[in-house]
Amino acid sequence: MMKTIELKKEKVYCGNLLLVNAEYPLKNNNAESLIPADICFPDILMKRDAAYVLQLVLEKICAGNSIVPVSGYRSLDEQFDIWNVSLRDNGEDFTRKYVALPNHSEHQTGLAIDLGLNEKEIDFIRPDFPYVGICNEFRKAAPDYGFIERYAKDKEEITGISHEPWHFRYVGYPHSKIMQENGFSLEEYTQFIKAYLEDKKYLFEQAHKAEIEIYYVPAKDDKTLIKIPENCVYQISGNNIDGFVVTIWRKTDD
Ligand SMILES: [Zn+2]
Repeated sequence: MMKTIELKKEKVYCGNLLLVNAEYPLKNNNAESLIPADICFPDILMKRDAAYVLQLVLEKICAGNSIVPVSGYRSLDEQFDIWNVSLRDNGEDFTRKYVALPNHSEHQTGLAIDLGLNEKEIDFIRPDFPYVGICNEFRKAAPDYGFIERYAKDKEEITGISHEPWHFRYVGYPHSKIMQENGFSLEEYTQFIKAYLEDKKYLFEQAHKAEIEIYYVPAKDDKTLIKIPENCVYQISGNNIDGFVVTIWRKTDD
């Protein structure tokens, strides 16, 4: 038995897999379901699922208070302020390297978080998040839960953003794991998954667990219809460009 999900065109701009960069601006500025990324930092917000998963990763690696959130969700106004202050204090070269233009920042999605090692002085734009110790444990564990290190050194040409060891993005599991295993940036993964359509799905297998099917559905101009098997867990995310990524969890004894 199948059920049909009906999606309006604007849903392309919603979901965990939004690609927001210099080429694709944020289209949907909704600040719904934001909660503190950490109860000790009530002003640093993320989307609810992303915030819960962030805490899971920190618990898993027993981070205690050694890792702190530095910057989470930003409104358009806040991104403008950060851009302008950085331009004034750091100049244009630095700002273009490390601060995204307003409406081109992942922080406006509520899915991104800058993390810092808990030190006496924490740099707001470039917090310390080294490739050793507890920070690196976070980095290694994050894709098992749904987070990726978003701006890698060897992907600067593709992401258009300088290496940012402190910036993590929630994309959801197993997308994070597929990106890690294949060394994909979100830009590359967005392209990669478009080759998998309803009649040729990408299969992500886990030992002794459910099989996960992933495929891309191009958005239609009015509404897009997606058929999903009854009684299974699924997620649908827009890619912020031209379509939807469908993720279906199937029991292996199906
Ligand atoms: Zn950031």
